Amino acid sequence: MSFQPPIGIADIHVPESGTWRRVLVAWEEWSALFGYPLILSPVLEATELFERGVGDTSEVVTKQMYTFEDKGGRSVSLRPEGTAGVVRAFLHSGARGPWKAAYSGPMFRYERPQRGRSRQFYQVGVEYLDVDSPLADVEVIELGYRFIRSVGLEHLELRLNSLGDSVCRPRYLEELRTYFRDNEERLCSDSVSLIDRNPLRILDCKVCSEVVTDAPRMAEFLCDDCREHHEAVRSGLEHLGVPYVEDPSLVRGLDYYTRTAFEYIGVDLDAAQNAVGGGGRYDGLAESIGGRQAPGVGFALGVDRIVLAIGEEPDPTLDAYVVSETGPGDVLTLISDLRGHGFAVDFDIEGKSVKSQFKAAGRTGAPITIIYHGDDQDVSVRIEDERHEVPLQEVPRWLTTR
Ligand code: AMP
Repeated sequence: MSFQPPIGIADIHVPESGTWRRVLVAWEEWSALFGYPLILSPVLEATELFERGVGDTSEVVTKQMYTFEDKGGRSVSLRPEGTAGVVRAFLHSGARGPWKAAYSGPMFRYERPQRGRSRQFYQVGVEYLDVDSPLADVEVIELGYRFIRSVGLEHLELRLNSLGDSVCRPRYLEELRTYFRDNEERLCSDSVSLIDRNPLRILDCKVCSEVVTDAPRMAEFLCDDCREHHEAVRSGLEHLGVPYVEDPSLVRGLDYYTRTAFEYIGVDLDAAQNAVGGGGRYDGLAESIGGRQAPGVGFALGVDRIVLAIGEEPDPTLDAYVVSETGPGDVLTLISDLRGHGFAVDFDIEGKSVKSQFKAAGRTGAPITIIYHGDDQDVSVRIEDERHEVPLQEVPRWLTTR
């Protein structure tokens, strides 16, 4: 039996788990600050949800899903992304009116593993449903932007585009098809196969960038409503001081987007994996999975890539380490009392010598060492060069008021 995790999937623990913990805690704080309640949606869903929701021309669905039959003969898939499941949960709940949710958890895609691209990866994201106001797009984009920067990825570029809607996009797609057909011999075989099914995806092809450069732009085809919506998103971002660049070739890998599409790019990351997150508006998604019309907007951020960009950090250091001269059993109450007062403390559980306990205390980096001499004696509290003798029962209170 090998102890390796499956190919393309990694164990995440020390040393990088310190960064993970900080980023995930910050995420809970930021999403709450913007008023997004937590949703814990299933990791496993009916395959049909993703085929209808994410789109059966997207690579994610056609090539990358972990799909299998469960024991009841139903086709189920590990979620490759979070939005379809959240929209399904929203429809299932019967909720109406502006509805917000923040999620976080693992996603699964059978991709070619490389740095910054794995088969199980972790996303945090929000969905804002039953809203068509461009102010919702602005709020969502601002949340992602502020969160990513707050955790330490300062060098961030926000790219923005509008993909139009069911009114104006069909005409644009026809125009694109004609253009790509005229240039078919210069396209890769994957792109050629997309001309009829989903020509928008060709804009995303790295190999065909030369043909893509001269392709018609969605911006020239936007209908009045989409143009107005896009203008309002732009001016909202400008008003809030969230810088962005227009990127007419930005299409995103999932098929459900309409109007607003955006990506957060880590400018210092390797170009192939520099997108730390992205999102957009998906006004037709609820209907395409069989629900009522419910426009929405959201994003997903890749925590693996954010952590990769920030680098390793130790877990927060302990506040104190307790050294016991009489064995670990005697300090259980003291330890429990300290933790009950909110101090992060640890101690040696194996009954090691006092000398090795001091060494262990040093390794933890805890600024306070508490030395227990016996039940009827004061304990010594060492803080840097100072040493204080404190009655045993008083230690937590003494530390709190110090
Ligand atoms: P997407 O759901 O494709 O829009 O991706 C949103 C973000 O999730 C990307 O910008 C990446 O940061 C992250 N991501 C997507 N796929 C992977 C993967 N295979 N491995 C690691 N991170 C990923």
